[in-house]
Amino acid sequence: MTLGSASSGFGLNFDTADYPAGLGAIYNPFSWWNVRILILSDIHANLQALEASLEAAPVYDFVVNLGDVVGYGANPNEVVKISRGLGSTFVRGNHDKAASGISDARDFNPVAAAAIRWTGETLSAENLAWLRELPKGPARVEGEAEIQLVHGSPRDEDEYVMYEQEAHAILDAVKVTATFFGHTHVQGAFASNEGPARFIPPVYKDARNIGTFEFELQPGKKYLINPGSIGQPRDGDWRAAFLVFDSSSKVATFYRVPYDVKSAQGNILAAKLPERLAARLAEGR
Ligand code: ZN
Repeated sequence: MTLGSASSGFGLNFDTADYPAGLGAIYNPFSWWNVRILILSDIHANLQALEASLEAAPVYDFVVNLGDVVGYGANPNEVVKISRGLGSTFVRGNHDKAASGISDARDFNPVAAAAIRWTGETLSAENLAWLRELPKGPARVEGEAEIQLVHGSPRDEDEYVMYEQEAHAILDAVKVTATFFGHTHVQGAFASNEGPARFIPPVYKDARNIGTFEFELQPGKKYLINPGSIGQPRDGDWRAAFLVFDSSSKVATFYRVPYDVKSAQGNILAAKLPERLAARLAEGR
């Protein structure tokens, strides 16, 4: 497995202070070196989807993770290990909380609750302890004043932002340009508008291959942007979803990546997790 450019070490350590005074105008690193943030969410212990996504990801400078690293899928320890290795900027998801005992699974449907129990029993003590320490959103990224990260929404980490009406209320209240969120497993962006917020779903050429959709943020507008779910998409597209945000050019590039669904399903069935969790991966629902 390759991890894209994750270990290249570029970008994150990039410090304008390293440049001689007076050369900033000429050598402003951000004029020729854009900052590209790989944004992952809702991996849900799907190892095959995560590996395929990292292989398909373009060059990036650092990774942020919007939570729900575990739950539903059959490879929580492997996925936690890879996720920890990719970076240190996380917000916790409701499945991370439930699996690690911060919250109970009372609000979960029986299938999800069964997966949470299995996940809690399967995770190593070290990985459980790590999950317990994940921060509650919103989280900020050093040097990136215009973005924030949440699992559900800025006002409630467990809120599902599905509709334009609630997106509108949230966008009215936020101060930053781009709020990246997960939780709904639906890829796309809400843009502030004169009237109600507008939902912009990515459009892809086909539904089989690796697909990308570029979305340029407009000056003066605010956005709620969902990279979609790596490990359990629910927007009708079975391919793993993520995005890369270029904070200099303000372009979000949405990705869809085919992966070995059969193998992920095989792991779920072998772990004796509910069959529905395997079936839905093929449907993207
Ligand atoms: Zn989730």
